[in-house]
Amino acid sequence: MTQTIDAVAGLLAGGGVVVLSGAGLSTDSGIPDYRGPSGVARRHTPMTFQAFTGDPAARRRYWARSHLGWRTIARAAPNDGHAAVARLQHAGLVDAVITQNVDGLHTAAGSTPVVELHGSLDAVVCLDCGDRTAREELDRRLREANPGFSATVAAVNPDGDVDLPDAQVARFRPVDCERCRTGMLKPDVVFFGETVPPARVAACFDLVQRARAVLVLGSSLTVMSGRRFVIRAAKQGIPVAIVNQGPTRGDGYATVRVDAPLGGVLPELADRLTPHAPLAASGADAAVTRG
Ligand SMILES: [Zn+2]
Repeated sequence: MTQTIDAVAGLLAGGGVVVLSGAGLSTDSGIPDYRGPSGVARRHTPMTFQAFTGDPAARRRYWARSHLGWRTIARAAPNDGHAAVARLQHAGLVDAVITQNVDGLHTAAGSTPVVELHGSLDAVVCLDCGDRTAREELDRRLREANPGFSATVAAVNPDGDVDLPDAQVARFRPVDCERCRTGMLKPDVVFFGETVPPARVAACFDLVQRARAVLVLGSSLTVMSGRRFVIRAAKQGIPVAIVNQGPTRGDGYATVRVDAPLGGVLPELADRLTPHAPLAASGADAAVTRG
């Protein structure tokens, strides 16, 4: 494994890197992946755009669960992996981060620029009038409309959804758009069954095609939404490094592949490549241990 980490470090050292990150990067922040290390989908099925827009009961269920799940997402803090990416970016080695995550943790860690491929849970859009508002504001309105609504949340999913009994869902009152009064509100994230806005996709292809290397972090590349960038890079002869626990559907395109937890690999890479940056506490410990 040391040899493969050396190879990733070698790629990063040349700069011009575009990072493509997925749910595996946020698991250390308490936001579980849809898929375990085995890559097998868990029982939770994400909301589809068709169900959300076509079925009022599904929409009520979504908002009831999301209202509770949001507290976990809003409380989540960036982990050592996010911090390491930000350090590599500030050191000039990473040009941009494209993330499939909707938790805002790259930005919270200080990364910039970040393209949130699938949007962000901290914003809400009206599907009728297009008004875009802060999730915090919707959270306040949902609390007012649902006094005393709370439940013991057993599991939160990466899209901020939680598991919740039907009886509790039935009591929940969703709210409509405050501007046009009747519009359907939706978190400003790309649901399954929905396409990423074309301008955003084009911007990501542009970043990838100008990259000297692409570094995939914590994504099984199961959905084409992210995998297409890896395929494009490989077709253009741009080296692709993948760091992920478990196999990915992009492995065939990878120049180098590290199968290990990101919480160990990324701080090590950042320590090696940004020696003058201040070390995080865990990074300092690791450096001493390696001696
Ligand atoms: Zn509206």
